[in-house]
Amino acid sequence: ETRSADQDEFLQAVHEVAASVKDVVKTDDALQKSRIFERLTEPDRIIIFNVTWEDDGGDVHINRGYRVQHCGAIGPYKGGIRFHPTVDLSTLKFLAFEQTFKNALTGLPMGGGKGGSDFDPEGRSEREIMRFCQAFMDELFRHIGPYTDVPAGDINVGGREIGYMYGRYRRLTNRFTGAMTGKGLSYGGSPARVEATGYGLIYFLSHVLEAHLDKIDDKTIIISGAGNVALHAAEKAVALGAKVITLSDSDGTLLKEDGFSSDDINWIKDHKAKSGASLKAFTDDRGGTFKSGKKPWSIKADIALPCATQNEIDKDDAKALVDNDVKFLAEGANMPCTAKATKTIRESDMVYVPGKASNAGGVALSGLEMSQNADFERGEFDTLDTQLQSIMARIHDSCKDFGKVDDRIDYVRGANRAAFAKVSKALLAFGI
Ligand code: NDP
Repeated sequence: ETRSADQDEFLQAVHEVAASVKDVVKTDDALQKSRIFERLTEPDRIIIFNVTWEDDGGDVHINRGYRVQHCGAIGPYKGGIRFHPTVDLSTLKFLAFEQTFKNALTGLPMGGGKGGSDFDPEGRSEREIMRFCQAFMDELFRHIGPYTDVPAGDINVGGREIGYMYGRYRRLTNRFTGAMTGKGLSYGGSPARVEATGYGLIYFLSHVLEAHLDKIDDKTIIISGAGNVALHAAEKAVALGAKVITLSDSDGTLLKEDGFSSDDINWIKDHKAKSGASLKAFTDDRGGTFKSGKKPWSIKADIALPCATQNEIDKDDAKALVDNDVKFLAEGANMPCTAKATKTIRESDMVYVPGKASNAGGVALSGLEMSQNADFERGEFDTLDTQLQSIMARIHDSCKDFGKVDDRIDYVRGANRAAFAKVSKALLAFGI
């Protein structure tokens, strides 16, 4: 607590896991004696570095780069890289901590890590982005590798940025290895990686509905975000017969009461890819209403899927969801609900699924990319999509087994306890 006193998001994530596992720890002498939970609250290693780069006008900029290697007990550190002005140690420590548990849930041998920089890519030219990525890798390369730490993308780090970083890594090390995931298909990337988080979220949601004797078709869904996770979740939900009525971005919420079609979603994908511009433009071309500065959470629906960013649902938003009788909330983003929002939701009848279970599809597919790289092989989309479906089903089974409370499933408890059981077993096996 004292060591991380000003790191609110990190403490929020730790408190949530602690609440789920404290009785397990209290009744197990070995866990207590080896102080396994406390050890898991301190990252194995944090690397902080200077990233100096030059803009198109010749001005020099200095950003801060980070890599938090949280826990490598069950495999190489694994987790994304985020470029955003809000990136700081608290955010990255919380993400790396969560990642450790999420990765354990996939059943694949991956430890937890996260990294990034306070660099703001908005308004930067292609060449500036490239120079920044190269400068970032000039330090990071010595800390990563296929058996050490395997970074991937996250907010503002997509295929383009991974390309620049991996290209620099390869040049510096003279090795073509699976040291990063989310790579382009022409240089060791995996089919289905781009779709995996959003699709995985919907596969998981389908199991949640099935466990509650319900089905996804004809359900009305509100989604936030219009990035990788949101758009692929929307695409799969619509393909399975659901009605997705919102998407959102930093400017506001796009509402289409009769539901987005697959063509609408493709239009948004193209529009975002071309210009990265606001969703507002959709209404001129394809109808709907744009609610400037508004979030989607006060709109009536059966299911809510927050897929934008952390803490995007506050207590009032949570209250609006409860008042509107939203039945299910599954997180696509990492920790999109504030602690107070989570409390409000968990005290209601809503079924709540934490991101570490429902958005684990992305990192699961990254794990499959690592296997393909290690074997010098390339998988097929359909095979990998089937593997993704089995992994999401397995995570749901773990949540069910570890999260049973009376006749209901507590997904938070289930996910935390299942993941903790796996990681703690490895730590105990290694001794002190
Ligand atoms: P993207 O950068 O592709 O998209 C993020 C979307 O969220 C954009 O539409 C962005 O709008 C919107 N957004 C960001 N901040 C805000 C805000 N403060 N208010 C409203 N909208 C906002 O990111 P991803 O889709 O990859 O990631 C989204 C979330 O999912 C993150 O929490 C990430 O950590 C998590 N995640 C991602 C995985 C992946 O495989 N990509 C895996 C697991 C989790 P705008 O375009 O205006 O900036």
